[in-house]
Amino acid sequence: MQDAQCLIIGAGPAGLSAAIYTARAGMRTLVLGSDPKIAGDYDIDNYFGFEDTISGRDLMARGRLQAQRFGAEIRQEKVLGVHHGDNGRFHVKTDQGEYDACAVILATGAARNRPKIKGLADYEGKGVSYCVSCDGFFHRGKPVMVAGEGLFAANQALELLAYTPDVRICTLGKPSAIPPEYGERLARAGIEVIEAAVESLEGDPGLTAVRLADGRRIEISGLFIAMGEASSTDFAYTLGVARSGIFLETDRDMKTNIEGVFAAGDCTGGFLQIAVAVGEGALAGRSAIAWLKSSCPGGGKR
Ligand code: FAD
Repeated sequence: MQDAQCLIIGAGPAGLSAAIYTARAGMRTLVLGSDPKIAGDYDIDNYFGFEDTISGRDLMARGRLQAQRFGAEIRQEKVLGVHHGDNGRFHVKTDQGEYDACAVILATGAARNRPKIKGLADYEGKGVSYCVSCDGFFHRGKPVMVAGEGLFAANQALELLAYTPDVRICTLGKPSAIPPEYGERLARAGIEVIEAAVESLEGDPGLTAVRLADGRRIEISGLFIAMGEASSTDFAYTLGVARSGIFLETDRDMKTNIEGVFAAGDCTGGFLQIAVAVGEGALAGRSAIAWLKSSCPGGGKR
């Protein structure tokens, strides 16, 4: 396992801005994330300091170089989960490795859409869950299903094996995008991957079964949603970060209710603009620096 003083999830304007501050303050900074959507052929006309239009691609490339100039390391890795680790530190699992950090800044952009399953909201807290480490325990030894098509869903399904051997994945009608090595692990664990859509959920008052478009009715006690990539909302669930809908709650310094966890940019809601994300990233970086200096043993260095 590798370690960082400050681990930033997200390589968009918010994450890179935070990295510029933490790395420049001498904190060992690791940024995990791919190019954000804005790093394409989009004209940016309203960002301070550019009298001519700049493309999103150029702006982001400059931001990355600036963060790297101060020593930030940027890796193209997908974060699958963030958990509380030992001694108040955080444990971060990605598609390529595992990390341990003293401060975490969540800057993953706006959370993705929830699946469109009829009646889904009615079963939230009554069988439908977004967090294996929070709710897996309630389904010990019972049949469960993970809804999702990719690596995130595969990882959640494997995590569920700690509670029950009876796990399935349903891609909700999408083609499976689970990488082959994970496919093999799922097969070894006897986890079936079903590519049918979900027609309906059943049970009163709690979830007891799903009806699939291929005609099957499968009895389940829990349905865990894990669509696409893990998002800030998923990390908030496992860490206990307060949310308002899909957005994370912070104070004016971008501190969440969990010590050592900060959030910035679109994932906190409000005015979803580059200038705001950059400003919030700076505040989150400053708060993380103060936290590392005051509260992490050895400044968060291992
Ligand atoms: P994002 O830019 O969304 O970056 C999120 C980062 O998190 C990415 O690096 C992503 O890879 C990473 N990430 C997400 N999940 C994971 C995971 N599980 N593991 C690892 N990394 C993860 N704003 C303006 O001010 N002016 C404009 O002209 C403008 N035009 C826009 C045009 C388009 C097409 C779009 C989509 C947005 C536009 N915006 C514009 C809005 C602006 O892009 C956002 O407000 C800004 O990018 C938010 O920055 P962010 O860092 O919070 O999130």
